Amino acid sequence: MKYCFLFWCILLLVSCQSPVKDTHQTTVLVKQYKGFPKNEVDTVTTILQKVYGVKVIIAQNQELYENAFIDVKSPRYRADSIIKLQKADLKDSIDYILGLTSKDISTTKKDDSGNVKKPEYKYQDWGIMGLAYCPGNSCVVSSFRIKHKNKAVYFDRLKKVSVHEFGHNLGLPHCPDKKCVMTDAVESVKTIDNAKLKLCNNCNAKI
Ligand SMILES: [Zn+2]
Ligand SMILES: [Zn+2]
Repeated sequence: MKYCFLFWCILLLVSCQSPVKDTHQTTVLVKQYKGFPKNEVDTVTTILQKVYGVKVIIAQNQELYENAFIDVKSPRYRADSIIKLQKADLKDSIDYILGLTSKDISTTKKDDSGNVKKPEYKYQDWGIMGLAYCPGNSCVVSSFRIKHKNKAVYFDRLKKVSVHEFGHNLGLPHCPDKKCVMTDAVESVKTIDNAKLKLCNNCNAKI
């Protein structure tokens, strides 16, 4: 009986002394908005895991926020509203939300001094491929402006835009290296085609 008690005491002592491992892995919730194909969600999930080593949870067939809808130039959704609303929906167990939509998204493009870029009619509601807080915990990617008849080109773009936007969430600004995935698209999808699907050494060192 005595030995038995001693055994349990030792066991207790050993288990208390074993270091508590930090098992938390950065978790990204990928929100699939209705109409966005599931196989494309899987493509984005895989590349986020590969490049950033994050854990991904998928929320399927989500309704896109109706109050982000706008019909100024054409029917589309405001990306700035989407990332704000996603952020408000963020649960404690999730670190980041990345939304995927096939709908057209837009934002207001500002110049360096914070005013709407000229001409205003053009940039007030400017169609974009993605938008992210930098840094922050919410971003959105749209497939509307990256479509290509060659599926391989399309998937390459989708991966690059997703890695780019999530990089902003992690605090990476635009990169001067034109081959880096964090390069500024400067209003052209061609820039994305010319960049590599990877972070340059400088960007990689920052995260
Ligand atoms: Zn960017
Ligand atoms: Zn870079």
